[in-house]
Amino acid sequence: MLWVGGAQGAGKTTLSWQLSRANDLPLHSIDLWAYDHLARLPADDSLGEQLARGPEAAADAFEATSRLRLDLVLGDIVARDLGKVPAIVEGPQLMPGFAGQLPPGWGIWLVPDPARARLVRQERLAKEEALASGPVTGRSRVDRLLQRDALLAGRIRAGAALSGRPVIEVPPVPDWPAIAAAAESALAPALRSAPRLTPGSELSLQRRHENMAASRQGRLWMRAAGLTVMPSYPFGCECGTSGCRATWMTTPDGYAARTASGRPLTAHGTPVEDAS
Ligand SMILES: [Zn+2]
Repeated sequence: MLWVGGAQGAGKTTLSWQLSRANDLPLHSIDLWAYDHLARLPADDSLGEQLARGPEAAADAFEATSRLRLDLVLGDIVARDLGKVPAIVEGPQLMPGFAGQLPPGWGIWLVPDPARARLVRQERLAKEEALASGPVTGRSRVDRLLQRDALLAGRIRAGAALSGRPVIEVPPVPDWPAIAAAAESALAPALRSAPRLTPGSELSLQRRHENMAASRQGRLWMRAAGLTVMPSYPFGCECGTSGCRATWMTTPDGYAARTASGRPLTAHGTPVEDAS
């Protein structure tokens, strides 16, 4: 595995996506397995109950669940049958203290400024409210979530310092190219030596696996949150060409219809080709 950890709102997902495309590596976003893991984990307090006990207790609960989920993540990655190709695993669950024997140069942690974390939380809530056609319970607890996340960010900094892991600070107005360059530099040992997915069917099948995870998560999110509109997601092209960065923003239904005959999704066609 190659780890991209860090607190909520630091741009982990976008950065990991770029790295996966630039290097033909599998991408494994832990948040795309949230509902799947929920069904496989022992019953726990709700987020609301955790937050009600205060930010320290909520941060402890997040870390405890994240540690449990790491075992599930390992199983999910084994099931991808990647051979010696490492997956880029990204998510706020990857605390530096969990990295264990991860070699130097195989993990980075992105930590956002509090103003940026607030902005991203508010954007995500606005998106969920649009999909739910009304207010969602999250709005009343944004401040408590941000307090919890600020504590987790502090723990990431402290844990990374203790174990010599690289942290990249993400300011309120991020210079994304500079952050990407810093990440690539910190991950250079891994990116230099990692075997890549072979273009063609191997790369295509792994992109399909990632799209299926996104599709399942979207459906489960819709059901669990009572969304009235099916969420869209930038499904990645499955053409199997090395470095293909094309995506198609669509719903799980749209993705299923387009790939119904079992053919790979091609996301970079012209609109005319799209209609065919
Ligand atoms: Zn493509």
